[in-house]
Amino acid sequence: MQCPMCTTQTPFAKKAVCRSCDYRFGLDPTLPHHLTDAEYLTLVERATSGGRYFFTQNQLYLYYCIERMPRNTIWPIAGILIGSLGHYLAGPEVAVMGAVSVAGLVYYGTRSWRPPPRVVLENLHEDMKAAGHPIKRYIEKPLFEFREEEKYTEHLPDPLDIEHLIIVDRNPLVDLLVLNDFAKHSKSLIISQSGYPNYVIPIAKELLAKRKSLTVYLLHDSTQNRIAMKRNVAEFTLLPTAGHPMFNLGLEPAQVVYMKHLSPIQPARTKYGIPLDSIPYAVLETALMYSITRGVPLLTGFAANGFVGRKP
Ligand SMILES: [Zn+2]
Repeated sequence: MQCPMCTTQTPFAKKAVCRSCDYRFGLDPTLPHHLTDAEYLTLVERATSGGRYFFTQNQLYLYYCIERMPRNTIWPIAGILIGSLGHYLAGPEVAVMGAVSVAGLVYYGTRSWRPPPRVVLENLHEDMKAAGHPIKRYIEKPLFEFREEEKYTEHLPDPLDIEHLIIVDRNPLVDLLVLNDFAKHSKSLIISQSGYPNYVIPIAKELLAKRKSLTVYLLHDSTQNRIAMKRNVAEFTLLPTAGHPMFNLGLEPAQVVYMKHLSPIQPARTKYGIPLDSIPYAVLETALMYSITRGVPLLTGFAANGFVGRKP
């Protein structure tokens, strides 16, 4: 195993220690995740865009699957090489046969590959923490508990500057957006449909009562139906949203179909129902900002940022 601190190789052992710098290894690569500390930290580096963003397990999972997916691009090159070698050695018939078998392998390789289950990434953070290496910017659980109000409010825009109210379907999406300062950048108040964090409820109520033209944005995973969420929010007695313009900012399965960059997690296997935070944060933020400022669907925001269509 390579030491992430000094790159020295140390033979695998449970609770191994680097023989050069005494770094204590946290992960066991013989477990189903097959990750060493160095590989895990590389994934974290990608999920945080080089330490810039807070990230969730779902974002880490995308990068994990990108790493694990068979390298399709190698096959066409191998096909050309085998084809030319066959042509040189045994004539065009063998070359054609070689090309056909490689095409078969490509088809078999991509069709038969299944992304590893999400659960294999559970506990990695705990294992690293136990070895003395807590992962910075990892959102492990809802953070803004009752007594930690200032953790949230320090990320809020000035109340007079608030222009939008964003209601999300899951609590961790509040953490992701607020910690990465999306509330500040988009001049929004962000709350979940179950009323998390609870100290934001009075601020949201006051805002809705004072400004009748305040737009309410509904932001959800593509596992949640926009009609269902609209109904939930309307029946959600905690917030008086009636009479306010409502805008669906959520992700829909029909939109996910076009996001070829997500193919490593194979959204088709879940009927295109995926958590919103499967999308890298930088892409998500730009798309959301684009949709909010121009009043267009989220897919248009993704398309404007090159996240729709074929992989580059
Ligand atoms: Zn070391």
